[in-house]
Amino acid sequence: MKIAVLPGDGIGPEIVTQAVKVLEALRSDGLKIEMEYAHLGGAGYDAAGDPFPPATEKLALAADAVLLGAVGGYQYDTLPRPMRPEQGLLRIRKGLGLFANLRPAMVYPELVNASSLKPELVSGLDIMILRELTGDIYFGQPRGIRQLPNGERQGFDTMLYSESEIRRVAHVGFQIALKRNKKMCSVDKANVLDTSMFWREIVTEVAKEYPAVDLSHMYVDNAAMQLVRAPKQFDVILTGNIFGDILSDEASMLTGSIGMLPSASLDAHNKGLYEPCHGSAPDIAGKDIANPLATILSLAMMMRYTFVREDIAQRIENAVRKVLQQGMRTADIYEAGMQKVGCMAMGDAVVASL
Ligand code: NAD
Repeated sequence: MKIAVLPGDGIGPEIVTQAVKVLEALRSDGLKIEMEYAHLGGAGYDAAGDPFPPATEKLALAADAVLLGAVGGYQYDTLPRPMRPEQGLLRIRKGLGLFANLRPAMVYPELVNASSLKPELVSGLDIMILRELTGDIYFGQPRGIRQLPNGERQGFDTMLYSESEIRRVAHVGFQIALKRNKKMCSVDKANVLDTSMFWREIVTEVAKEYPAVDLSHMYVDNAAMQLVRAPKQFDVILTGNIFGDILSDEASMLTGSIGMLPSASLDAHNKGLYEPCHGSAPDIAGKDIANPLATILSLAMMMRYTFVREDIAQRIENAVRKVLQQGMRTADIYEAGMQKVGCMAMGDAVVASL
């Protein structure tokens, strides 16, 4: 298992250190794990003047999987756009061909009160959001700001999806649905957007190859509403890049804390980049209060999807559950009566329960 480790910025190094402890524990149990470190985001800019330095690209391409903390920080906000940390993230996703972004939104029984919704709406919630990650309006050309003949300035972007892009992510969605409750809801805006009409047509075609999966379609505005009205109606949600960006953040709040949510971004051969859903949280960086569980749970996804070791994935997930059952909480998920612990202590507790 060749893993490229990219701590990144802000709380990235702290939370990645905890995940690395878990990998080291697994290695001492006999798993053949190799780890090598590189810079991404602001750390890449500081070290090499580039948010995705060539050395990082080389390491990431050679690895089986990439573990990332997070990127971004106030000190980089005034840099020209190509130098900003987020560009490093967009470029590594594109460079590795990571088109399928998996974001589970799960509510742990111990954290049901942390949700902003009523416990009965979210208790037992287990949704998988599959967001297409390398197409759509985030990458479509042309884009820019132009001057119209009448002198007024205009901003514009282009929403684009090619058939092959829709097909390959739809296949990933159906295959995930087959391993879960065999229900998939494809989310689009086909009542208004031609790109979405085409998306719906192709997803419906691919569905013929998966008769066991119950496919439905929903407009994105309704999906946003249903996610807070009755989220348990969903199993797998398949959607494009911009809708997925927004819906997956919305879904993350159903679970109470963004500090609990892992993610995987996969290529066509299950090589993947694994990272927590949250950002670099510069407001709490360096204080040993960040929640490392999303990053540790991202390792479980790595074991499941890239290394096809469901046994190890479950071992990590069970270890996390056990520390929650023991009452340990970082500040973001703390409730009265529980034991408040810092980032390092939480990492140590997971290793101990592993
Ligand atoms: P954020 O996710 O970093 O933080 C939002 C809030 O959640 C903050 O109050 C933060 O303290 C808290 N939080 C986040 N992760 C936490 C954790 N593990 N434990 C406890 N609390 C946690 O989002 P933001 O503040 O909008 O962005 C901060 C920076 O992160 C920006 O530079 C942004 O561009 C970047 N960002 C990076 C990624 C990524 O690397 N994938 C994703 C989103 C944002």
